[in-house]
Amino acid sequence: MPFWTEKSLAEMTEAEWESLCDGCGKCCLIGLEDEDTGEIYLTDVACKLFDGAACRCSDYANRKQHVPDCVKLTPENVPTLTWLPKTCAYRLVHEGRPLYAWHPLVSGDAESVHRANVSVRGKVRSETSVKTRNLIKRITQWPEPSSPPPPAKPKRAAAPRKKPGTT
Ligand code: SF4
Ligand code: SF4
Repeated sequence: MPFWTEKSLAEMTEAEWESLCDGCGKCCLIGLEDEDTGEIYLTDVACKLFDGAACRCSDYANRKQHVPDCVKLTPENVPTLTWLPKTCAYRLVHEGRPLYAWHPLVSGDAESVHRANVSVRGKVRSETSVKTRNLIKRITQWPEPSSPPPPAKPKRAAAPRKKPGTT
């Protein structure tokens, strides 16, 4: 059985954890929070370190040095990060749902996430080119599947890892 159907997030090895990212790039977008409701609205403006053509962080290993507030996903914080897209593989696994057919781990093809129109590749501009006061005009309704895949069978319970993986 594929590891993401058998293991909880906390049980994954670092390599498995890293491979779970589908490369959509949506977690690298600037989000604006509604102060009244707490809701986060994503823009089409990406972090200054994001390579929009490659759809990935341009210095992933050292990202915290460049962007100290970059949020490192962990098994502990994934359940609390409401701004993660519904398609995010970490969110899906946490919710006990299967991955979509276009996920590279399922399709075996890193391009499938882009062909499925789920990624932000080629569709964003850098935060370095947008004034903060104009961010509100950049709020974007990114396409998402109308409904998430139904939950898979329950996984067995697991103790949290002492050293969570990274993304
Ligand atoms: S939203 Fe999730 S799947 Fe998409 S790039 Fe971010 S961590 Fe990876
Ligand atoms: S530092 Fe890298 S991983 Fe973090 S938000 Fe920016 S582009 Fe994404």
